[in-house]
Formats: sequence, C-alpha cells, structure tokens
Amino acid sequence: MIIDSHCHLNLFSSPPISFSMPDLPTFNLEVPSCFITMSTIPSDWQVQIELTQRFRHVYCALGIHPWYVNSSSFKHLLTLEALMATNSVVALGEIGLDFSPPYKENRMLQLEVFSQQLNLASCVGKPVSIHVIKAHNEMLSLLSTVSANGVIHGLGASKEIIKRYIDLGFKIGVNGVILRENSRRYHELVICFGLENLVLETDFPHVKIDSLNPPKLGDILLVANKMASLLNISLEEVLNQVVQNTHKIFNLNGTLDDK
Ligand SMILES: [Zn+2]
Repeated sequence: MIIDSHCHLNLFSSPPISFSMPDLPTFNLEVPSCFITMSTIPSDWQVQIELTQRFRHVYCALGIHPWYVNSSSFKHLLTLEALMATNSVVALGEIGLDFSPPYKENRMLQLEVFSQQLNLASCVGKPVSIHVIKAHNEMLSLLSTVSANGVIHGLGASKEIIKRYIDLGFKIGVNGVILRENSRRYHELVICFGLENLVLETDFPHVKIDSLNPPKLGDILLVANKMASLLNISLEEVLNQVVQNTHKIFNLNGTLDDK
C-alpha cells in the first residue's frame, strides 16, 4: 500500500494533463494506493467530496489556500465548518501562510483566515495539511497555541525550522523534488529526519520532476524508491513506515469502514 498524502485530484481532467475521470480508480500504479486530495478554493469542496464518494480509497481535505483568501473567505468558513462532519473529509487543507511576493500584500487577511481554519481543525479534532512559505515564525507561533497536528507539505525549510515543526508533532511531506538532479539539500534533509518523521506526496499536478515529462500520480513510487536508496533500506520498509505515519496523522483506519 502507498498513500499520497497531498495531491489535487480535482485537477485530473484539466489541461495539459490528459487523464479523464474514469481513469481514477487504477491510476496506473503498481501497488494498492490511497489518496488524500486537497482543496484550494471553496468551489472545489463539493467536487472533492464527490471524488471520495466515487472512489473508495480517495479521501479529501477541505480548506482555503493562502493564495486565494479574500474578504468573502469568512462567510465560506461557516460552510467549511458544516462540511467537516463528513466522514471522508479527513483534514483541513490545503491551508497556510505564504508571505512571498505578491501574496504578502494579503498578509493580515491570510493570518486571520488561517487562524480561523486552524481553530476549526482543533475544535473538530482533524489534522491540517499546511503550505508555508516565508512565514515560518508566524506559523510556528500559531501552531504552538493550538492542539492541532498534521503535515507541513513540501519539505521547504532549514533543518532548524523543520525540527521545530517535528517537535510540535508534525510530519513533513516529501514530493518529487527529491528526484531532481540538483536536490542535494533536499536529500540531506530526508537523511537527517528519517522515515518516522516523513510522509509521501506528489502535490499532483504541481510538481514536475524534469522538464520533459508531465507530473504523474505514479511519481509517488519513484519518490518512495529514492527515499529507500537515500536511507539505504528497502522500498517495503519505506512503504510500511510511511503508511503507518500517514494513518496515524489522518486517522484513515477509522474512516475507511465508515465511508
Ligand atoms: Zn498542494
């Protein structure tokens, strides 16, 4: 079993990715797979829930991504709260803070919308899948004030900062960047933090491994294989531990039978 802890399956049918919805159950993967599909805007939410109803091993996370917060976000948070009662909604995501240009213009609104989503996660006891860029101090201080856990997706920070997220109980998402030729720093982080702190993700269709091929869901197996070779262990060991980490964070055992 392999679990993609962060992908955007609703973008499957969008150009330039030429898959169609009926392809979804197999995904052309060689091992049984499970997917947690992320939302970025309120109009995604119903589509994501429909995907979880069509496909047994698809779960979803609902939320408002920091790039898309605006003054209407607050009214959508009421709908979000109601939807969190759906069994196949296993997390809030993709949510977070991004203070890189041009998004930092929206800094105050991002902080407010993220805080409310984080509090909601804490109230309903569901984890979060977090996007954080150039806002680690603010993120760490907000996370230390609530009882929320989850995943920092994309492994994009220094060793010291990642360690602080891990100390707060978070796992770190590793994606196709690990496969790029110039990703030595990324490799060092994977070796430093080891299997018990990591989960796998594709962030499909956003992460390209090279300039020749379009992103694929099957890239997740390549990521797992690369992790195995960096850590000098078998693919099976990687899959076992990472699946365990992902189940623990997203509580998938409890929801599989209830869906
Ligand atoms: Zn994403």
